[in-house]
Amino acid sequence: MSPTRVRVPAKVNLHLGVGGLRPDGFHELVTVFHAVGLHDVVTVQVADAMGVRVSGPAAAGVPTGSDNLVWRAAELLASRCRAGSPVRVEIAKQIPVAGGMAGGSADAAAALLGCARLWGADPVVLPELAAELGSDVAFGLVGGTALGTGRGELLEPLPTTGELHWVLVPAEFGIAAGDAYRELDRLRAEGAVPPPALDVTGLRAALVSGRPDEVAAALHNDLEPACLSLAPALHAVLAAGRKAGALAGIVSGSGPTCAFLCADEPAARRVAADLPRATVARGPVPGATVLGR
Ligand code: ATP
Repeated sequence: MSPTRVRVPAKVNLHLGVGGLRPDGFHELVTVFHAVGLHDVVTVQVADAMGVRVSGPAAAGVPTGSDNLVWRAAELLASRCRAGSPVRVEIAKQIPVAGGMAGGSADAAAALLGCARLWGADPVVLPELAAELGSDVAFGLVGGTALGTGRGELLEPLPTTGELHWVLVPAEFGIAAGDAYRELDRLRAEGAVPPPALDVTGLRAALVSGRPDEVAAALHNDLEPACLSLAPALHAVLAAGRKAGALAGIVSGSGPTCAFLCADEPAARRVAADLPRATVARGPVPGATVLGR
């Protein structure tokens, strides 16, 4: 049987409001996910035994065993649909690892879709399995721009007008998402940060307006002070992007990737030229998509 290839985007959080800690250890979130044109490609094919291979510019540090989220995704789908021969999963990785861009979750979403296609499973089960695998996996399936509540797995697509032009600056280090949330809890206990920002009314309107300057003014990340506390070097990255001409810059999700919103594509190219390791990307883009052979 021929391999199935799935392309899946990274995300930035246009808004990340972090509410209280829930009894299950997760924080209650009000977030706006936005899929951007920086992709991993996940290929699944029938094999004698389960296996994961990772290649590409962001491959370093990605696990290749059963702790890779794609392995867990394949096993979960196989157990749920009582089907599934072993598969070999190959990840061509461009999304920075532990970068706050949900790369692992994106790969898991792609693996769910690819295995469902390979095994002839009904894709209707995928959103539920995605939510079981992790907070950001469900968004990887749908892409676009979406409000995420609960721990991020309850999604409502948001209408937007036009495209947004981004400059993405990955760091040379990662921040584990758990560390960022723990640091936020610590800063909150000290009274060192503002209360949770759980209202996205302004951002919703800005997205419909199609005006990048309005979207820029509405970007917000409650986790940013925690990321800056853990990685003070990010202050300089944010300042450099703004100085280079971005409308606004934020830490993406739990960091440390910084995302800069620019007025248009030429502006994004100019800003990217001034920042080391920067890439340009537009959004929104679709979620996990099966590619032609
Ligand atoms: P999020 O934005 O969802 O918090 P992130 O972008 O900060 O996630 P990931 O790139 O998803 O972080 O990786 C977090 C950790 O998950 C990695 O350090 C790695 O050990 C593990 N991991 C498991 N599977 C994958 C995968 N397919 N790609 C990347 N990391 C993976």
